[in-house]
Amino acid sequence: MTMAINDTNEKINRAAEAFQKWRKTALPDRITHIQNVKAKLLENKKQYAELISKEMGKPISQAIAEVEKCGLLCDYYIQNAPAFLQGRKITTEATESFVTYEPLGVLLGVMPWNFPFWQVFRFAIPSILAGNTIVLKHASNVPETAQIIQTLYEDAGLPKGIYQNLPISSKEVADVIGNPHIKAVSLTGSENAGIAVATEAAKHLKKSVLELGGSNAFIVCEDADLEKAVSTAVNARMQNAGQSCIAGKRFLIQETIYDTFLEKYKIALSQLKMGDPMDPDTQIGPMARVDLAQEVEAQVQKSVAMGATIAFGGNRNEAYFDPTIVTNITENMPVFNEEVFGPVAALLPFKTLNEAITISNTSRFGLGVSIFTKDINTIKSRISEFEEGAVFINEMVKSDPRLPFGGIKKSGYGRELSEEGIHEFVNIKTVLIQ
Ligand code: NAP
Repeated sequence: MTMAINDTNEKINRAAEAFQKWRKTALPDRITHIQNVKAKLLENKKQYAELISKEMGKPISQAIAEVEKCGLLCDYYIQNAPAFLQGRKITTEATESFVTYEPLGVLLGVMPWNFPFWQVFRFAIPSILAGNTIVLKHASNVPETAQIIQTLYEDAGLPKGIYQNLPISSKEVADVIGNPHIKAVSLTGSENAGIAVATEAAKHLKKSVLELGGSNAFIVCEDADLEKAVSTAVNARMQNAGQSCIAGKRFLIQETIYDTFLEKYKIALSQLKMGDPMDPDTQIGPMARVDLAQEVEAQVQKSVAMGATIAFGGNRNEAYFDPTIVTNITENMPVFNEEVFGPVAALLPFKTLNEAITISNTSRFGLGVSIFTKDINTIKSRISEFEEGAVFINEMVKSDPRLPFGGIKKSGYGRELSEEGIHEFVNIKTVLIQ
């Protein structure tokens, strides 16, 4: 769907007008509005989850969990925004010195379809509480979800203009970034979209935050709790049909336990229930679009042509892609050196922790890594060697409103969530009184 330029500019003007009031609205009042948003969100949870499943194929149980997680995020910022935004006293020779956190103005969000509520909420809620207003360009394959989020905010009583959906194409994003009312942009999406948006933002000297792709390593050492490692590996790779930036994608297994891990992983994957996303028992639904499943198939086929082996699964039926394990991997194969955005696990053996760290870092992405081991002291002493935005030990990498989230290298820059997230789109104003 495209929208006339005038409509887009009108919405941005409305957001700029709304900002003038919203920035002066006391924080307790802004918080009350977000409490109402949370109440509306949970009241209509089922309707939103069904729409998510309908538009992008996520199993309904996972869609409900996504909406509920947005509620937890609201709670987190409702409780913590006063402390995060109250400013900071700094001792100098002056009578007084301190910083204040002030809103920037109208922000543009550009968001993907894979967690179509969560990605929007984790950007919008802290930004709105900080006093900004939002225009949001959502992915073009979730148009109804995009619109219903705006309706949700309006029905919750948020003043008009604070959150608006822009049903525009990606080609129109550059013009929006160039609009003088837009003060900054946050994009969650692919590397190419990140480059396009950051380039445009840089031309206008506007701030950008980029949450891009990942190809996380999931490392299992020989002393790990194997049952836990296997069951976590299933979720880490198969959740959301593998369409997650922080999914474990490259599974590095210590050679002494490699065969056992592979056998147990195959058994666990064979027990997953694939099917209709609206069925509450379904664990794997279709991928979001047929072309995305075809892309994953091509990455697997190309890797097989280069010598990889399909150890489990490997078949595609329209948008359904079977849970798949690929072995005999070399670092030049697409399943290793590209992001595979579907339910395909690449398994590689390693001999020593040194080698595992080297392989893990052999990725242009740097979103996160999981390591399974009982030797916490050793792994803690090696954390700085991982080129990642997050290191999770004996757990899959997952987002949590309390923890900062974001990557390095080609996974982007900036942080969402936690205190760091709410400070991305504020003017940190320094005040000194002599
Ligand atoms: P995508 O194609 O980059 O799309 C993401 C958003 O960017 C969509 O709204 C899209 O609009 C827009 N877009 C695409 N190209 C653009 C351009 N040249 N200029 C401006 N906007 C543009 O990504 P996707 O395939 O939907 O999502 C999957 C990617 O997102 C994966 O790489 C995944 O790892 C990443 N992701 C990262 C995180 C994170 O937190 N780090 C979280 C989730 C997903 P259209 O839909 O209209 O093209």
